[in-house]
Amino acid sequence: MPERRPLIAGNWKMNTKLDEATKLARSVADGVTLREKVEAECLVIPPFPWIVPVREVVAGSSVAVGAQKCAVEDAGAFTGEVSAAMLAPLCGYIVIGHSERRHVFGESDDVVAAKLQAVLRNGVTPILCVGETLEQRDGGEAGAVVERQISSALGEMPEDAIAGVVVAYEPVWAIGTGRAASPDDAARMADTIRATVAHIAGSQASSSVRILYGGSVNPANAGSFIGLEDIDGALVGGASLKAESFLEILDAAG
Ligand code: PEP
Repeated sequence: MPERRPLIAGNWKMNTKLDEATKLARSVADGVTLREKVEAECLVIPPFPWIVPVREVVAGSSVAVGAQKCAVEDAGAFTGEVSAAMLAPLCGYIVIGHSERRHVFGESDDVVAAKLQAVLRNGVTPILCVGETLEQRDGGEAGAVVERQISSALGEMPEDAIAGVVVAYEPVWAIGTGRAASPDDAARMADTIRATVAHIAGSQASSSVRILYGGSVNPANAGSFIGLEDIDGALVGGASLKAESFLEILDAAG
């Protein structure tokens, strides 16, 4: 079975002023550097304008920097957009299909699939977010929704590209609510995700894909998700805005 290095990613969303962002990045980088052994890869995902200053702060540490979204196109008359081509020299990861992009900004499965192509074509690792709403969960559709989101995003991809994708299972009802999924639910959904990827790209790709859990992860519950066989880390929102809690979550990954 391929080795899957755990990934702990902090999505800062539209939070932090410049001085707060650089301070937070400094504390995370110092915390990681001071630890004797850090099993997991540590990733911070600041708002666009802070990517460059945060990169400068974490340079020389093992902390990676990512972006929260990107455009479908690489360049052109798309005022306000930022392309994966522009982010590629700055970011190792780009988040695609976060539930806030899907549900607040109306990004469809087709748009998510096109953005995923843009990320891969520019040599960046995508973190593809999937997850059901509360209504879909209550209607017993959670598995089908996630299957559809995965198939739509990955259906047209070459197998070797799929193997490098990170999938974040983030039930919409658990994001920012303080109500995390149960580890059993997360494990079941990770199973569904691996089975769907296996169907699309074969078992080798399926066992290589890293799966994160996201949704109200905190230092107290992180270990119960990260310890699961099929979960390879966490996508953390609120708790990533405090270096101490983010580092505790990193510690939970070993
Ligand atoms: C997120 O933004 O992806 C997230 C999981 O947020 P929170 O940890 O605050 O629920």
